[in-house]
This record gives sequence, structure tokens and C-alpha cells, in this order.
Amino acid sequence: MTQKGKVYLIGAGPGDPGLVTVRARELIELADVIVYDYLANPQLLARAKAGSEKIYVGKRSGQHSIPQDEIQEILVDRAHKGLKVVRLKGGDPFVFGRGGEEISELQIDKIPYEIVPGVTAALAAAAYAGIPLSHREYSSSITFLTGHENPEKHTLSIDFKLYGQIQGTLCLYMSLGQLPRIIKELKEGGMAGDMPVGIIQWATLNCQKSIYGTVDTILDEIEKSGIATPAMIIIGEVVAHRAQTEWFEGRPLFGKRIVVTRAREQAGQLSQMLTDQGAEVIELPFISVEQHFDSKRLGEVFAGIAVYEWIIFTSANGVKNFFDLFYKAYDDIRCLGPMRIAAVGTATAREIEKHKLKVDLLPKQANADALAEELIKNEGVESVQILVVTGNQNRDSLVKRLESDEGRAIVDTLPLYKTTKTDLSKDPAAERFRQEGADAVLFTSSSTVRSFVEQHAALVRGPEARKPAFGSIGPLTTKTLKELKLPVAFEATQASLEHFVVETISSLSAQ
Ligand code: SAH
Repeated sequence: MTQKGKVYLIGAGPGDPGLVTVRARELIELADVIVYDYLANPQLLARAKAGSEKIYVGKRSGQHSIPQDEIQEILVDRAHKGLKVVRLKGGDPFVFGRGGEEISELQIDKIPYEIVPGVTAALAAAAYAGIPLSHREYSSSITFLTGHENPEKHTLSIDFKLYGQIQGTLCLYMSLGQLPRIIKELKEGGMAGDMPVGIIQWATLNCQKSIYGTVDTILDEIEKSGIATPAMIIIGEVVAHRAQTEWFEGRPLFGKRIVVTRAREQAGQLSQMLTDQGAEVIELPFISVEQHFDSKRLGEVFAGIAVYEWIIFTSANGVKNFFDLFYKAYDDIRCLGPMRIAAVGTATAREIEKHKLKVDLLPKQANADALAEELIKNEGVESVQILVVTGNQNRDSLVKRLESDEGRAIVDTLPLYKTTKTDLSKDPAAERFRQEGADAVLFTSSSTVRSFVEQHAALVRGPEARKPAFGSIGPLTTKTLKELKLPVAFEATQASLEHFVVETISSLSAQ
């Protein structure tokens, strides 16, 4: 009998990638195939393991989404091949998500499945707009309704008159286009014209936009604001009792689009700090990483893996590729042997810890020299066999130092990936920048400035795009910007990420 796979129907939450469950994240990391649509944030896919198949089944601009029966075929086909298939759906799969239909089909084909709930849009929009959905004084029921009972039928099948007198909160999904008719029916059913209404578009993302009015004024507000789908409409007294301070939309960089370059590992940290302040971050990948190795060499190293006393990882990419290949060769982690593990940088260490392996040595400064220094001084490496896992940009100085008279170690290097210049003409983040521009581009080193200038041809902005201000982390980067004739709008008062973020906030809010 062939092994049967399994389908995991997973709620991907409302958009913010932080709003998925721990179970969802685990399954995304384990999946062989991920089938996702329009409302599932593609950033979630960054956690997928190397080599997993990712299939987009949502709408593309100007085209229809893949029909439901084709999606079903993909799920069944991959599961029959024995694969773990993750079906990611925006929000919760069972709230206007056609999860029920997908499950009945899987049952017909006797395919095992699991369902992971998600944060549905109504709950997320309310929380991120500060609207309490229930309230001891104003609302003791919450109703989820849809303006389209079946998104493909585009018909209105609910009698909204029935909800005109409800003493509670209404949350309307997929209803923006139908709102004039819905409001008419609600009023016919007895709803007062001054009943408060809030509409939240793209809730939980940094492009979230919200407008408020009443049943009588909201249609004008929609027209004035240009608010569009996807949007959650909340109707009820509670809307008027929302929080006075906007914890989400009120953050200092909210509504600002900022470019950081992904050339260095600290980019992730900077992006996170900017996102926490409310910015929408575009990470431009100037460098692409691909698995690349000499299979003979890999075979030799794996065959003798237990002889090494130390294994050194110099990057998170090295760790990912190493374990990807290791698990293909061995099915028992103990095959690694009793070696000790050293890492450069906390991002690398975190990647190692995902495998429940402790890092024995992590130098305070995140560079290869500091690592060599600590190994030689504190551990002693004379005649010790060491494996250094790297990319194609060899860590010659690290290896040389360990092998030098100072260290006298026996070092093997294992390059597992190569870094090449990204073709930005096809990259979605760069496309976004070309079309929409940004408020700022932040340069964290001279090399990021040079990459930006080198890739200039692929970064020419369209007529509608915002013109970014260029920010520099410190004097050296500023010097390079000036040499390359780029105007420097602001420079961090001290060359640290924290100071850079503070300076970005003050510069952009002064605009
Ligand atoms: N299963 C999803 C709903 C899918 S129906 C869930 O549980 O949330 C699609 C509708 O959901 C959209 O038309 C919109 O009304 C709402 N929606 C989904 N994501 C949203 C978001 N981030 N902000 C506002 N509304 C959203």
C-alpha cells in the first residue's frame, strides 16, 4: 500500500504574520506542499523548509482565481503521493472560507486531514481598531454575516431586515460592494440612521485604513476615503465606544513605507524594529541564496561526520542547508556524533536551536574573527578536527587563523550554498518599489549603498511612486552615499540600529 499523505487546513489569520497559531507555524515548517491564496500573507511561506512546493491559487491581478475543483485536485493529488500538504486560508478556514467543502471532498477520497483554526478577520479588525465587539452595556451578541453567501454567485441571499433590530454587533464580511442595499434593508428592519459604523481595510497590516460614520453617513465616507476591499464592516453601538488612542494606526511610522536591503543578516532585525513602530517594510534582496555543493565532498564529510570535535556555522543559511541535507542522509540526529557547535551571530544560533541543539560557543561580537579568537584562546584547538560550514564566499580568514601556528587545528570546509546577485527585474519586492516607491531607503553599510546603485536600472520608479529620502546609519555610509551622488536626508546620531530607527522617525514625522 502506498503511504497516504495528509492535508492540513490551516487558518493563516488576517494578514499580520504574527497572528498565526503555534501549530500553524509548525506545520508550515514541516510541509512538503503549501497551497495558499490571496488573503494568506506570503511572508508566512518564508518559514517553509527548503525545497517545499508552493502553489498560489488566489486571484492574480486581472485574472480569476483557480477554480475550487482544481484546488481540490491539487490537494488530493499531492496527498496521494504521500506528501504533507498545507492548505493555508486567510482568517479561519471555517468562517466564510469554504473549509467545509474542502473537507467533504477529502473525506470522499479518504484522505486524512487536520484543521487548525485561525484569527478571523472580524476579531482581528476589531482588536486592531480598538473596538470591543461585546460590551456589558451596549452589546451582548456578535453576529458574523456575509454580503456574498457564495463569492462566485455574487448574489445577496441574507434578509438583512432581520438584523435591523438586533441589540448587538454586526460584523460584515465581503460586503463593501453590497453595502448600499444592506443599509437600506437594515433601516427597513428598524435600524436607526445614527447607528455607528466602522470599516477597517487590510486589518492588521501596516497599510490598514479605517473610517467611521453612521448608517446614514458611511456611504459618503466610503466615497471620500476611497476605502476598498478587503474590508471588515462593523455596525453597532460598540463602534462609538472604541478606544480613544489608536494603539495600532497611531504608531510613529504607521503608513510609512521603508526600504531596507536584505544583503546582511542584521536587515531582519532592522525590519522588525521598523515594523514594530508601524512601518511597512520592503526588503530588497540584492543577493540570492541557493543550495549548491559538491556531492562527493558532502558524501565524504557526512561519512566521517563523527570525527569532528567542533562544527562551526557562519550563517543561518549554512545551518538551513546543512540540516536539510543531513536529514536526507540520516534519520537519526545522533549520527551527528558528540561534536560541539559554534556559531557566528544570534540569527545563526537561533537556526541551530530549532533542531533542539545547544550552541556551545557564540562569540560576543558577531564576526568570524571573534569566533576564531575565542576558540583558540578559551578552548584550545591544537590537532582538533573542525568542520566549517559555509557558502561560496569562503571564510578563508577564519580557516587560516584556526590552522595557523596560533591554532594548529585540522580544518575542513563544507560550502553548501552560493550567493549571487538577485535579478531584481523579476523580484516582487522590487516591483513594489518601482510601482509605489517608498518614504525612505535605509542604508546600513557602504556595501548596501553600492548594491543599490549597481541595481539602479531595476529600481527606476514609475510616475505614481513616492520619492524616498535616503537615510544613513553613520559617517562611513554617508561618505559612500555622497561619493555616489545620492542626497543624504538624515544620518543616525550614533551608528546603531536603535539610533537609526529614532532618526528615521524624527525625520519622517517632520515631513
Ligand atoms: N476566512 C476568512 C474570511 C474570508 S472571506 C476569515 O476568517 O477572516 C473574505 C473577507 O474577509 C473579505 O472580503 C473581508 O471582508 C474579510 N477580510 C479578510 N481579511 C481581512 C483583513 N485583513 N481586513 C479586513 N477584512 C478582511
